[in-house]
Amino acid sequence: MPQNFEVFTRLNSETKNLFSLIQKAGPITKNHLSHLTGLKLSTLIRYMQPLEEMGLIIQSSIGDSTGGRKPALFDVNKYKYFIVGVDLSRTYTKLVITNLKMDILAERQFPMDKSSSPEKTIDLISELIGSTANYLKIDPKKLIGIGIGTVGPLNRSSGVMINPANFEAPGWSNVPFKAMLADKTGLPVIIDNGANAAVLAETLFGAGKGLKDVVYLNCGIGIRTGVISSGTIVRTINDAEDAFGHMVIDVDGEACICGNFGCIETYSSIVSIMKRFVLEIRKGKKTGISKQPVTINYVDICNAAEHNDDLSKEIISKAAAILGTGLANFINLLNPTLVILSGPLVNHSKIFYNTCTYVAMQKCYIKKTKKNIFMRSGKFNENAIAVGAAVLFIENCLNSSILGY
Ligand SMILES: [Zn+2]
Repeated sequence: MPQNFEVFTRLNSETKNLFSLIQKAGPITKNHLSHLTGLKLSTLIRYMQPLEEMGLIIQSSIGDSTGGRKPALFDVNKYKYFIVGVDLSRTYTKLVITNLKMDILAERQFPMDKSSSPEKTIDLISELIGSTANYLKIDPKKLIGIGIGTVGPLNRSSGVMINPANFEAPGWSNVPFKAMLADKTGLPVIIDNGANAAVLAETLFGAGKGLKDVVYLNCGIGIRTGVISSGTIVRTINDAEDAFGHMVIDVDGEACICGNFGCIETYSSIVSIMKRFVLEIRKGKKTGISKQPVTINYVDICNAAEHNDDLSKEIISKAAAILGTGLANFINLLNPTLVILSGPLVNHSKIFYNTCTYVAMQKCYIKKTKKNIFMRSGKFNENAIAVGAAVLFIENCLNSSILGY
């Protein structure tokens, strides 16, 4: 008897494609499916049969009639199988459990600190999967796999995290995270960078549904980007998600952790905003933030900027303008129909979002069309990476070409 997580391996590619279509377009009639796929109704019914027999799709409701008998609508069975999506970052780990329609059924998270070694993180994820499935009254056998969206660089196929920067705990170099988590949980694991996961979720199930060219930026401790171009994820070297963040914007600029000078991240990340703030205070600049300088964090600076604190406003605006300049280059190159900006800096600062998008618009060619392609936070907002990781898993099961493997 095959394991539940092998459920999709038994299906042929036509049937997998049909499942994918029903998942994204359902509830849907067989006639509509036949029209979308170009398959004859008899062929369509043959390909659909295994999906119905395995309980992967069900007749969900009855559609509107154009005269005569009302047609049956088919959709993915929301109760048959479930997926775990994990957003593993430098400051927290978030976990969601979704059904195969990619609805979030529960979300949980824990902080990542000095003690968060790979081993401890894996133990916590594993415990959380068990307790969350229990809370949802889901039989653990119905969990078909785990997707992880994490920080690059990584070797996607071997599942090794190479040397991610800014993890507080030691031990994160050359970690075979995929194999370790698969060993611990007994479930298959897929790993990719978190920004790729997020852009996948937004493009297939969120704000960019139906679009083929979507850019996703997550502005936080680093600047993380995921891009779908002509319907396929753009694959960077070592699946790094900070390739855009390390675009050189000033050849004579400040030294960056990557070894270059003047990268976008050197000006526009939380780390660089904090550094700049401390530097300006040391130089004697005044701020209205009534806290000890050492206890001031980026949220204080974002809030103070919104309340017209000159120094905070200046620093946030400068950081956003530099990001916007890089973004204009990126937009000219990729011609996206949607650019989603998200992450802590965007969520905490309207000034950051407004300045960045204004500058990007001014400096790129699309200003002539006056079309607004920007969106704050997307549909999934803070859950985009975790949901995207679950999407990554199912798309992998379906051998979807969007993954760009
Ligand atoms: Zn750099």
